Amino acid sequence: MDFRFSDEQEFFRSQVRDTVDRLVRPKVREIDEKDVFPRDLWDEMARLGYFGLRHEERWGGMGADTVTSMIFFEELARGSAGFFMSVTVQMLMGTYFIGRFGSDAMKERVLAPAIEGRKVTCICFTEDQSGSDLAGTRTSATRDGDSWILNGNKQWITNGPICDVATVMATTDPKAGLKGLSFFLVEDGMEGFRKGQVFHKLGTRGAPTGELVLDHVKVPADHHLGEETGKGLEYSTDILNHVRVMTGLAACSIAEEAMRDAAGFARGRVAFGSPIATYQLIREKFGRHYAKREAARTLLYRVAWMIDQGLECRREAMAAKWFATEACLESVDEATRIYAGNGFSMEYAPQRFFRDARFLLSGGGTHEVLLNFLGSQYLRG
Ligand SMILES: Cc1cc2nc3c(=O)[nH]c(=O)nc-3n(C[C@H](O)[C@H](O)[C@H](O)COP(=O)(O)OP(=O)(O)OC[C@H]3O[C@@H](n4cnc5c(N)ncnc54)[C@H](O)[C@@H]3O)c2cc1C
Repeated sequence: MDFRFSDEQEFFRSQVRDTVDRLVRPKVREIDEKDVFPRDLWDEMARLGYFGLRHEERWGGMGADTVTSMIFFEELARGSAGFFMSVTVQMLMGTYFIGRFGSDAMKERVLAPAIEGRKVTCICFTEDQSGSDLAGTRTSATRDGDSWILNGNKQWITNGPICDVATVMATTDPKAGLKGLSFFLVEDGMEGFRKGQVFHKLGTRGAPTGELVLDHVKVPADHHLGEETGKGLEYSTDILNHVRVMTGLAACSIAEEAMRDAAGFARGRVAFGSPIATYQLIREKFGRHYAKREAARTLLYRVAWMIDQGLECRREAMAAKWFATEACLESVDEATRIYAGNGFSMEYAPQRFFRDARFLLSGGGTHEVLLNFLGSQYLRG
């Protein structure tokens, strides 16, 4: 066993860290307060080539391994959580199915410009009546000669309000439940495809999120992404493992940022004649955070390594994401307690970490759904 990152990976981390420190962190507060998509940052990150990290070099990507791409996500999450959301959707689920199943012509038209940041992508699972329960998907795809006709309504779509390209989950056979699901590529400007309500969110502000409406949208047959219809869920398994590790590492970074900030406050704040950092009950919060973050990162990078080895890791990815997120929620809560009254103020940072961390509970599966699955698998023996 060797738990060390390679020299190349360490160098890559330092480069990303420097970029995030220089470009993203100075804008965190502004992005959150104004809730605006930072197009300039988007363009710059694309120019630096990061959007193609996971994609084939042929389309402008870097073809990096999973551990390396997770280093990128962990560092990026030290900046704005909203910007992180937009970028990770673009790099993972927004382009994954196109990269895996798209024709060369489609990749040239859609994937290469997405890697260059010129096209914004999104992934559409959720509807008003179905989130965790994808068997309840009502968006339908009906074959019509050489085309598919899509009808439905998608909600909570990150990048939806500004998207050029959407990967949409729809059912080709409503009676088949989970076995009727497929993905389709929909492009802005197609007749019947419309951007609906924009959602105002508690956290991850700056990532435009909203509703997409499909009203008899006609897409060519090759916009069905996958070899067979009805296998959408099966095709999602790999990328969902990535999403869970990425979300878990975001949890580690948000927690670390919150506690580092709180450490500065604890060193300077004097109560009963001493800095509060000298009190054991305050120190315990930092010790607990440190221990849980270390444990979470070890779990998460192990899963990233398993993905790179081609090992089955669905359960491990779910467990690691759950553990990291719960640890993060504890740390961001403790950070507000350390600040006490000031932790309740919009002038200080803890409230932002506290709000942003809530998105981790939905991304990659809610904790009830993850633990229900893990528990049922465990009981099966
Ligand atoms: C910031 C943000 C960005 C998002 N971006 C996207 C996006 O880009 N694309 C997209 O498709 N979706 C997106 N979503 C939606 C997200 O994927 C869903 O919120 C998530 O799948 C949960 O679905 P739901 O909100 O409909 O809740 P539901 O699934 O309706 O769950 C409601 C509650 O019931 C619980 N529950 C459900 N089933 C069970 C069960 N079997 N056992 C026990 N408890 C259960 C849940 O855990 C939860 O507590 C985003 C959400 C947020 C908050």
